[in-house]
Amino acid sequence: MGALKIGLALFCATALVNSSPLPKAETCGYASCQVPIEGMTNVHLIAHTHDDVGWLKTEDQYYYGHRNNIQLAGVQYIIDSVISELPKDPSRKFIYVETAYFRQWWDHQPQEIREKVEGLIESGQLEIISGGWAMHDEAVTHYQSIIDQFTWGFRTIDDMFNTTCARPKIGWQIDPFGHARETASMMAMMGFDGLFFARLDEADKRNRFEKKELELVWKASVNHGPSSYLFTSANHDFYYPPAGFCFDILCRDDPIIDDLYSPDYNVDARVDGFIEYIERQSSYMKTNNILVTMGTDFSYQQASYWYDNLDRLIKYVNERQTTADGKINLMYSTPSCYLKAVQNAGQTWTTKDDDFFPYASDDYSYWTGYFTSRPTLKFMERKGNNFLQICKQLSVLADLREEKWEDLASLREAMGIMQHHDAITGTEKQHVAEDYAFRLHRSMEHCHETTKNALNKLAMKVEAAENLEFRSCLYSNISQCDVSEISDRFVVTLYNPLAQAASPFVRLPVREFAYQVRDEIGAVLSNTQMIKIPTPVLTIPGRSSQATQELVFQAMDVPPLGFKSYHITRTTTPLQPPSSVNEFTIANEDIEITFDQDTNTLSSVRDIAADKIYSITQDFQFYKARAGTNLQPSTRASGAYIFRPLDHKKFPVSNSPPTLETYKGDLVNEIHQTWNEWISSVTRIYKGSKAIELEWTVGPIPVTDLQGKEVVTHMKLDGWETLGKFYTDSNGREVLERNRDLRPTWDFNPEFEPVAQNYYPITTTISLRNHAADNNNEEFVVITDRAQGGSSIENGTLELMLHRRLLFDDDKGVGEALNEEAFADGLVARGKHILLFGQTQDHPTSLYKQRQLTRDNMVLAPWVFLTPTTLAATDYQSKYNTLYSGLMKEVPPNVNLLTLEPWGGPDGDQILVRVEHFLEQSDDPELSTPAFVPIMGLIERINDNYFVRETTLGGNQWLEDNVRLEFKVEGEDEVSQQLPRPDPSEDATNITLNPMQIRTFIIQSRSGAISNFPNLISLAALLALALCRAFL
Ligand SMILES: [Zn+2]
Repeated sequence: MGALKIGLALFCATALVNSSPLPKAETCGYASCQVPIEGMTNVHLIAHTHDDVGWLKTEDQYYYGHRNNIQLAGVQYIIDSVISELPKDPSRKFIYVETAYFRQWWDHQPQEIREKVEGLIESGQLEIISGGWAMHDEAVTHYQSIIDQFTWGFRTIDDMFNTTCARPKIGWQIDPFGHARETASMMAMMGFDGLFFARLDEADKRNRFEKKELELVWKASVNHGPSSYLFTSANHDFYYPPAGFCFDILCRDDPIIDDLYSPDYNVDARVDGFIEYIERQSSYMKTNNILVTMGTDFSYQQASYWYDNLDRLIKYVNERQTTADGKINLMYSTPSCYLKAVQNAGQTWTTKDDDFFPYASDDYSYWTGYFTSRPTLKFMERKGNNFLQICKQLSVLADLREEKWEDLASLREAMGIMQHHDAITGTEKQHVAEDYAFRLHRSMEHCHETTKNALNKLAMKVEAAENLEFRSCLYSNISQCDVSEISDRFVVTLYNPLAQAASPFVRLPVREFAYQVRDEIGAVLSNTQMIKIPTPVLTIPGRSSQATQELVFQAMDVPPLGFKSYHITRTTTPLQPPSSVNEFTIANEDIEITFDQDTNTLSSVRDIAADKIYSITQDFQFYKARAGTNLQPSTRASGAYIFRPLDHKKFPVSNSPPTLETYKGDLVNEIHQTWNEWISSVTRIYKGSKAIELEWTVGPIPVTDLQGKEVVTHMKLDGWETLGKFYTDSNGREVLERNRDLRPTWDFNPEFEPVAQNYYPITTTISLRNHAADNNNEEFVVITDRAQGGSSIENGTLELMLHRRLLFDDDKGVGEALNEEAFADGLVARGKHILLFGQTQDHPTSLYKQRQLTRDNMVLAPWVFLTPTTLAATDYQSKYNTLYSGLMKEVPPNVNLLTLEPWGGPDGDQILVRVEHFLEQSDDPELSTPAFVPIMGLIERINDNYFVRETTLGGNQWLEDNVRLEFKVEGEDEVSQQLPRPDPSEDATNITLNPMQIRTFIIQSRSGAISNFPNLISLAALLALALCRAFL
């Protein structure tokens, strides 16, 4: 392409970037709100339903109203019923949250109903709020999956409605069990104006009632400043109606009877009762507005029950306005309308910069058990995200948009459902947990077809070559894999979803033979190693495998967004698994790990280069889960939600030292420990790495003693002064300081549950810092492979809860004890921790980059695809590419490619791209600086035939069109709280990312169909497009 064309392309790209959608005349949003009456208490009645996407019933059982013997709930009837009730009075309003259900309902509707619904949305009567696929949990969810589930929800909303009125502007998180600062930060980045929730520590809530601080401005990011401020409002009474005013068919409260001749006439008494409630509650508010939720779980299945009574309540309360003491104004409203009224009041708000964890519903009930509940489902979800990102990337790289949109959508949706606050949390009934796992597995199978097609397309050198299988070993977490165990000859293709090259160690379960590994050019790897599979793993119930050892090799420099293939042949030489050596130290060039010869447990780690020895011990212990009747707070049992250890103390898992076996080799050194009949572990170090891997296997947890148990790994650093502080991540992003026995914003009594109240959610990382005077800024970091609860119960210690098996329900609704079984025994969980030692930010060799990269390598691990083959290595290479990189330009080491996915629908040509700077401002002197990233030219497809345009985080609004409501903050001058505007002169081949910034782009083909994005593609953009087409 000549210089002129390049110039035109740049002009055209800029022209598109600067154009805005034309405004559409609509009465939705803030314009549709009733105006509050000055001098009165304005009561915003919020008609809503809370529809869990699975909990006591599966998603489908809830949607269809199936299994009503478990819970009388049918979402299809709710939406049907509301849609027929709303038009009866234009003042009636309703909000709907869960896009998963709305989409399911929409798919069953004829065109005239769809049009009617769109009309209700355009008039502001029906408001889509939050708009994620589900109402996500905030403790155990990873930011990548939170962003994805919102993005897919928003996208689905855009696909259903041809109006910007459907675009959510408010977060509605009224049931999740505590609230993450990072979720608030992401909502700000999505352009939201505010957030409503309900569950905060009851003591915090009482305190906030007294101080009129149930509403505040949350400073949601230390890196983003005022653009991350989010107005946050905590509901008075969860999301329920005032006592006595639940008009639902599921409730038993009295209707309002206004027939004067009826012996049951009750208007005066009912109005008095309601006014009394409002007068009491409004005394806690800073403005003359109050939000009253009118709905509950699966309410409005018969919406007329509600609306007929609410109509009367509004009528008769407002009639009192003519009396001398009539000071109350009732109206149908929405959280958005309430928010706007509050903002208009011009108040100044207090702020908060920590988070709302942990949540306690009384002095004895800390909701910190669910941080760990169902550890295998939590791990499966994380692998689901890993594979979803790979499936998306490969779909883009191989340009599979038409054929595989539905398969990709299926995994997007299964992962969206997994984020629900009763899914990944482990607080659902057993059959529902199995349904989540089934859906996720089925969708991963669908996406396997996509990855197979993509890899074939990218690998095929010769057109006549046969299509290959690219299988996954989904049982590799129990060292089982049919392809590597059975095949004489197979190809291992590693796909690396990171934006930087990776050199992972590959482990393949194999039988007792010698194997030969050839690299991508056919050269035999001199360095491979066999390592014994720990004996306790061989006997995990349900494991069906002939493998007794694992073949280990390092896949060097697997390209970013690319793959590299290795050819593996089994020789006929029998090879027994290597035997152990009688040694207590394992080492590589960087670190040396020593175990104590008397206790057979970890005793020290030496950093060889720094000549520094860290004295550390590690063991496994368990808490005895408290049994209880739950009849009063003090008899609360430990359950799926609540962690309540008996006597607040840990017990050893065995009275004798663990057995210890040491295995050494060129690539990996391992110490295998068997702690008892149901706990074993492996401590390992790989060649060239300072990361210590600690693999744990826990279960079946015995309960024949009728004692539920909650198992932790416990680490202690001798001589570390940690001052009660430890550090945990928020949704896998920014790190928060935690202080044992302390809450930053209220006087806290730490006596009641001294252990459980100190537990915090660990999505990916927990760390300790040595605050002793001569400590050289030492830091110890543990990275997890799934969400877990963790804490530092004594100075210098860390613990992470791995697995729980309980015999009592905690009476928080699920109605089952968390007693997971599989293969007629307690469920076994196996997982990994990565342990890192280093220095904090003030030190030139900061640990942060390694920490983040390790974390990324856990979250976005290279995926192992296996292909049985009969071809010799040279024949395979002649027909198929064995090395491929989709990334055309280098991405800086502090930048992660968060999203690369097809976005044009089944036949459109759009790509959604997100890039993120993954370090915080204070992390690293060198890397916490702005990074420069190419978007145009990042991959081959994103070339001059495409436009690049920036959106808000959810991908559903052009960034420059977003305007957030701003709120005055106590003690601060008024500064803009708007999101950073795109700079029109910024070059798409080199965009700037500041620390922790995420930027989202839609990349649109100049030639492709563009009708799939009705709400984003403006007339101006179309004109610019036509102009550019004419020129180019
Ligand atoms: Zn819920």
